[in-house]
Order: sequence, then structure tokens, then C-alpha cells
Amino acid sequence: EELYGINKWGADYFQINPIGDVTVTPFGKGNNARISLYDIVQEIEERGMSMPVILRIENILGSQIKLLHETFRKVIEDTGYQGQYKGVFPIKVNQQEQVIEAIAEFGRKYNHGLEAGSKPELIAAISMLQNRDACLICNGYKDEEFIDLGLNAVKMGYQCFFVIEVPGEVDLILERAKKLKVRPLLGLRGKLSTQAEGQWSESGGDNSVFGLNVSQMVDVLDRLKEENKLDCLKLLHYHIGSQIPNIRDIRAGALEACRIYEELVNEGAPMGYIDFGGGLAVDYDGSNTNYHSSRNYSVEEYCYDVVESIMNVLGKKGITHPTIITESGRVTVAYYSVLLFNILDVSSFIPHPIPDELPKCSNDLLDNLLATYKDVAPRSIQESCNDALFYRNQARQLFKHGQITLRQRAMAENLVRHILMKISSTARHMTHVPKDVQDIDKLLYDIYYGNFSLFQSLPDVWAINQIFPVMPIHRLNEAPTRPAIISDITCDCDGKIDNFPDYSHDKNAILLHDLKESEEYYLGVFLVGAYQETLGDLHNLFGDTNVVSINVHLDGSYEVVRELEGDSVSDVLSYVEYDVKAMKHRLKKIAEDAVQKGFITGKERKDILNGFEEGLRGYTYFEKD
Ligand code: PLP
Repeated sequence: EELYGINKWGADYFQINPIGDVTVTPFGKGNNARISLYDIVQEIEERGMSMPVILRIENILGSQIKLLHETFRKVIEDTGYQGQYKGVFPIKVNQQEQVIEAIAEFGRKYNHGLEAGSKPELIAAISMLQNRDACLICNGYKDEEFIDLGLNAVKMGYQCFFVIEVPGEVDLILERAKKLKVRPLLGLRGKLSTQAEGQWSESGGDNSVFGLNVSQMVDVLDRLKEENKLDCLKLLHYHIGSQIPNIRDIRAGALEACRIYEELVNEGAPMGYIDFGGGLAVDYDGSNTNYHSSRNYSVEEYCYDVVESIMNVLGKKGITHPTIITESGRVTVAYYSVLLFNILDVSSFIPHPIPDELPKCSNDLLDNLLATYKDVAPRSIQESCNDALFYRNQARQLFKHGQITLRQRAMAENLVRHILMKISSTARHMTHVPKDVQDIDKLLYDIYYGNFSLFQSLPDVWAINQIFPVMPIHRLNEAPTRPAIISDITCDCDGKIDNFPDYSHDKNAILLHDLKESEEYYLGVFLVGAYQETLGDLHNLFGDTNVVSINVHLDGSYEVVRELEGDSVSDVLSYVEYDVKAMKHRLKKIAEDAVQKGFITGKERKDILNGFEEGLRGYTYFEKD
């Protein structure tokens, strides 16, 4: 448990059972309903679905929505806050229909709403949100069509707010509202001077491209007053970045926003809603620090900071406590998806045994390497390290100049591996290890090839060095012995996971188990529900993975509630504009030509064409026979 930090990042949803499988406990502490991920993988494969699979545990989504609402409710009660909390889910964080459907379902009892930043997102939001007491927040740049969609939602009884991002939107909204004879609900997006730490610090501060600066806010206020429409201004919104790791920035942003809110009230706007945007972070690496993939606060602390900021600023001025909105997307959906994949192969660092007698060689390279191996000792460890790397380089040079054969070079590299491993194990017992020797560990990692595409399923690992928890989902009663990095199956050297949290073997490798002949080895990448699915791309034409959603019952049983087949080969080809019908036609002609030329028989032609058809229908990932 220590090794993979599951108790640190698992938020009580993920644990290890006595037989060494990762289990899911979607109801958190106090409920014993726990299911083994390994059992689920077996069932998924029995149902005919191949790895990789995104597994969604729907109850975890329910638990996270509950956590947000109940924590705010508790803090509101504790502090005597007079307003209420209404969350919205920003669709951009995971737009998949099944996800939004599940959020609408679980969120209904809490009036959890949706946030849209574009026309397709708004249409999706209106069609999914059945609950008129929930808020619909429209951010982003809006054209006439976007505005009409939102105004029609207001007409149908929805609380659909337009958040003004640029001053130019005001006139267009007022004009369309007049035409459609509906009173718009307006908000302002403030550009705060507060800038948060983390990966998205540019979302806040003077250089942010979003929102109105203070003079633009004054212009908008004046325009609304001129048009006699200041009474439509009900909401202030800001967003200073996703995944804000430091609570200090959350509080600083909230305090600044409350001051703006106070001024808007002083200007005569009715207000009533303050929308703190996103930013509530997920502790991906379990370190509970202000590192970019973590957070140094709990959900409860976040809620206290928001509520207390309002009470400090507005309460003191006797301003009615507004309804609090947050657009927390990441924390809502991250926990409920796990990417599951099997390991296809390992490129192992373990060398072949040293033969009793070294092969004959016209120079003394191999003898020197053997002597270096025998001499490895703590007092001369730096020297052994220098020699190993020197002779490795010499072997490569001699090979280039035709002075040793491929087999002799292989033997030399094999001896180098033995030396490096001996140096590494010797250094483990030393207190002061020279820097060069410490770096040797990096040369010893195995490469585990996982059946997935980093670019499709974990794009933030590639794009922003995001850390996600990764670990085997079974065999956790056996000690893993191989330090490894994980490679995907794209032909891209960036397609690898080689950045791990502190509790791993070292920050560049994870300890994994040796593969067994008779058994698949499965890994899970956890907390992947936010952003990864839609930001993923078709690099090397690896498509969407299969998705399976389960619902766990209180008695510990579970049912598969939704299944979504991933892209087939013909799907991904059509995404890049191939005409699959024309391709089939061309292949038929090629095969026919091969028959005419006598390269293949008529029977072989039939088999080849069948194989082609099957290939087009197949999954883009590695399939078992
Ligand atoms: N609201 C807005 C306007 C955003 O741009 C974002 C994402 O960056 C969010 C909400 C979601 O933020 P988070 O994922 O931190 O919850």
C-alpha cells in the first residue's frame, strides 16, 4: 500500500484487499461494499470487450457530488451563512453524453446544474438538464445563435445566466432579448489581479485573456444603466485556473471577487449570485502539498475559505449573503474513471548469465569488463562506474569501426549490465553515494509495454507532465521487484509514463512484477475522469477505448449499467477522411491483380480479403486471439 500510495490518493475509494487486488469502495468509509477491479476486468473480458477499457464507477460520481453539496451545507450551517450553495458541472471537463447524463441524475436532488462554454455544450446542457431549479451558466464568447439558445432556455423556465466575457456582448444580448421578449439573466466575468500557482496560472492575473478588467466592468455597468437594464445583473463570476494547488490563492481570489461583488451591489445591481469558477484541485499524487499535481487543502477547507471570504467582506457591510456557485469539474469527475490495460511485453534489463568462458576477441575489451565486474566494491564505486561507461562506449566505437562483431558487442553490453546492476546493489548499502552512481539507476529500468495510447487516454501526461496514480490492480501480495517505466503502443518516444510520485521506487520509475507466462498482468491508471477523454487524440490512429460503467450496490454486488464500444479501425480511418468503401474496392483490385500475376491463389485472395474486412471491424488496440 505504501509503495503505490493508494491510501494517500485513493480518497477512501480505492484500497487493497487481503488477496492482493485493488478494490473499489464507492461509498467511502463506513460501508463495506467493495469490489475487486481484477474481478471486474475478468468479467469485462468475458463479455467480449478487450483492454484498454475506461471503467467508470458511477457511485463515485454520486459520492463526489454529495461530498461537495454536503460539505458546503455543513460549512454554511457551522458559520451561520445565510445563503445557499448551488454547484454546476462545466461540460468541458468531460462532455461524454453518458457522463453528463449521470451528473444530471446524481445531481438532481441537489439542484446541481451545468456550465457551457460553447453552442454545442449549451445545446447538450439544455437537453440533459431536466431540473429548472438548477443553474445553467453560459461562459465563453457568444454569437447571436448562442444568445438565442440561452434566451429560449430562460423562456422555458430555466435559470440560464449569460456571463459577459467581453463588453461587446452586452448590446447583442440586450438586442436579442428585446426581440425574443425575454428578460435576460446577466453576470460579469471579472478579471482578477490574483494569479494562482499551478499549471493554469495564466488563467488569472493581468495577462489572462478572459473576463472584464475593472474599467471594462465600469463600461458594462454604464451601458446597462443607460439601457435601464441594471436590474438584470445578478451574478459575478471569475475563474483563475483549474487545479489550484495552494489554498492561499483560493482565499486571495475569493476575497478580491467579494470586493468586486460589493462594488456591484453599491452600483445598484440586484446581484444575488457569486460564482467562484473552478480550481478546486485533486490530490493526484497524494502528497497533500502545493505541488502542481496535488493540493494542500481539503474540500472542507476550500468550502470554509469561500464562505468565510464572503462573510468577511460582504457580511461586514450588511450585504445579503449571495447564493454560492462553484464550477468544480475536476474534483467531481476525476475519481470515477480508471483506465485499465494489460501489459503486452517487457523489455527487460536483466542480463543473460555471464558464461564460464568469455568468447575469443581480438582485443581485451571483454576481459576488462569482466575484471571491472569482479572489482565492484564500495570504496572504488565511482571508478567502477567510470570504467563501465568507458568500456560501454569503447564497445560501441569498436563495433562502428568493424573491429568487433554483433555477438561480441552483445556480450560486452551484457557485461556492462551486470556491472551496473552490481554497482546499484552495492550503492544501496552505502550512506554517501556519488551523483554519477545515483544516476545509474536510470539505466536499469525495464520497459513495460502497456496496451494503451498515452495520447488518446492520458494526454495531460504528455502535454503538461501531469501525474496520475498508476499501479498493478492485482498480485499486490507479491513484492514487485522490477523498476520500470511504462511505454504505450504508439510509435512515439513521448508515449511513456516515467514520472511518478515520491513514494514510488524513485521519481522516474515504478516497481512492477515479473510477467507470468500463464497470466495477464493488468495495470490501472486512476483519477482519469477529468479532461483526459476529450483532450485525447488519434495519434497513430489509436481511437477511443471501450468504456464500461458500473453501479455498485450496498450489498457489495454490482451491475454493468452502460457499455460503449471504442472506435473500430474503420471508424478512425473515416475520421481522417478515408472512404472505407473505396478502400475495400481498391484492395479487391490489388488482390485480383495478385491472383492474375500468380502471386496468390483464389483461395488466398478470399482469406486475405476476409482478413481485411475483419481488420476494419476490429479494435484499434492490441487484441487477444
Ligand atoms: N469554469 C471555467 C470557466 C473553466 O475554464 C474551467 C476549467 O478550466 C472550469 C470551470 C473547471 O475547473 P476545474 O476543473 O478546476 O474544476
